[in-house]
Amino acid sequence: GWNTAKETYGSFPNNRGKSAFFNDRATSVPFLIRFCKSSFSPSELFAGSNTGINFEKYDDIPVEATGQNCPHHIDSFQDVDMGEIVMGNIALSRYTRPTPVQKYAIPIVKSKRDLMACAQTGSGKTAAFLLPILSQIYNDGPGEALNAAKDNGKYGRRKHFPISLVLAPTRELALQIYDEARKFSYRSRVRPCVVYGGADIGQQIRDLERGCHLLVATPGRLVDMMERGKIGLDFCNYLVLDEADRMLDMGFEPQIRRIVEQDTMPHKGIRQTMMFSATFPKEIQILARDFLEEYIFLAVGRVGSTSENITQKVVWVEESDKRSFLLDLLSATGKDSLTLVFVETKKGADALEDFLYREGYACTSIHGDRSQRDREEALSQFRSGKCPILVATAVAARGLDISNVKHVINFDLPSDIEEYVHRIGRTGRVGNLGLATSFFNDKNGNITKDLLDILVEAKQEVPSWLESLAYEHQHKSSNRGRSKRFSGGFGARDYRQTAAGGTAGGFGGRGGRNQAAHGGTRGFGGGGFGNFYTTDAYGGNYAHSQVDWWGN
Ligand code: ADP
Ligand code: MG
Repeated sequence: GWNTAKETYGSFPNNRGKSAFFNDRATSVPFLIRFCKSSFSPSELFAGSNTGINFEKYDDIPVEATGQNCPHHIDSFQDVDMGEIVMGNIALSRYTRPTPVQKYAIPIVKSKRDLMACAQTGSGKTAAFLLPILSQIYNDGPGEALNAAKDNGKYGRRKHFPISLVLAPTRELALQIYDEARKFSYRSRVRPCVVYGGADIGQQIRDLERGCHLLVATPGRLVDMMERGKIGLDFCNYLVLDEADRMLDMGFEPQIRRIVEQDTMPHKGIRQTMMFSATFPKEIQILARDFLEEYIFLAVGRVGSTSENITQKVVWVEESDKRSFLLDLLSATGKDSLTLVFVETKKGADALEDFLYREGYACTSIHGDRSQRDREEALSQFRSGKCPILVATAVAARGLDISNVKHVINFDLPSDIEEYVHRIGRTGRVGNLGLATSFFNDKNGNITKDLLDILVEAKQEVPSWLESLAYEHQHKSSNRGRSKRFSGGFGARDYRQTAAGGTAGGFGGRGGRNQAAHGGTRGFGGGGFGNFYTTDAYGGNYAHSQVDWWGN
């Protein structure tokens, strides 16, 4: 019965499905169940997400959409018909309303437009692309991909033809996206798969054998799979590049181009392509130009950063007192709440973890020197609450959706305010309430003024010593021209809207780009930080900073 699209990807057979839908008795609609019983239970699949949502603040976040004939945004999930399966899984996920990026991206993707979206971590990007893509797939069915898969050989030597491909920079992120995809494909016949490096490829291939309609992959492993003839992209109608800036920073551009341009993937304009990125530096603009057709550019204001959902505390703690102060904080923390502790160095992370462990705390750590496996293990122990304290370096924690963190502690403050904002954004995610405590001492002089500005802006309590320090600092140091940082609410602008962008001959072509120094200016190329919105949100300008949002 894989003839019609509806049958294939599962709208509900007669009316039985609907009533069974909202209870967990999945067995009442056996026709639609794709997963074997042992792999998960619905309560496990939809567990643990989003409690205490406080969306009022969240709704204020400005979104700017540019590009020709931009579809109108939605205000509620009901405003767009994504079909029973998607709507049901949204309900099971307890998403009551779309986040700002979802309000815009969903109708854009639904109307088959390419999309370049700049939004920071935690804004709900994953669902913003997964929901409309899955909805389209349920609608359209597998098409030629199905026959291709049938035709190409005997058991065990099959090539798989995913209809949708999501590229992500790291294995942790790929797994997160995969987990979301499993939620939103629940009770459908779409089978998500995930492949990433550093894990047994044989096992991943065996999993592909069970069917692969939506593939989440890291670029390196996917190239490997393609070269082994396990994956064909011939029928890949939906391509997503998630955290594109980070993939480039990690050096994945050759692999990405190999996958998208030098193989069998349908061309741009034929496939639908969506790119997501926290920043919009030149390298990403070039990729957007090469991969996207007549795209809509979405700039989403910062989330969480100035949000009053996060209580920010700055306390003066001498270097030598940090550990005992931390113990005080931890002993005051509820047993079930997750605490994320940021330190500056890998060594510092190991040392602090050891210390806390000896003090009897269940904790774990994540940093660049730990193996993928250890990092993954640490993350899952943290998420599950088995180790409710995670000591992390900024780089290792980057981009991870560690969602229900109650308390972020800056054991070591970063020297850069963007990094500070990014860290504290780990708490108070998608409208939850959170607390961020930062240890401050002589060493942190360079962040004083910016920190003060942030506290004031977010209407937080400002310690009087910080105020006087900032005052002193301001009079000591010459004007650093910082003011631009606060000029807009966005991390990026559509470069096509500026004089320097658009037809100005671009950026020197592909060859030139390869010689271009990496990690230089990370602005969007060409001034024009207009003030479209005067909002509470801040940030927006990375041009001054050597360090982008991700700290790379
Ligand atoms: P991003 O990719 O922008 O970093 P994610 O897609 O990882 O953000 O989403 C962050 C968290 O918010 C996840 O735990 C996700 O389940 C949750 N979330 C996303 N959209 C909604 C929504 N509409 N309502 C409630 N929670 C949501
Ligand atoms: Mg994401």
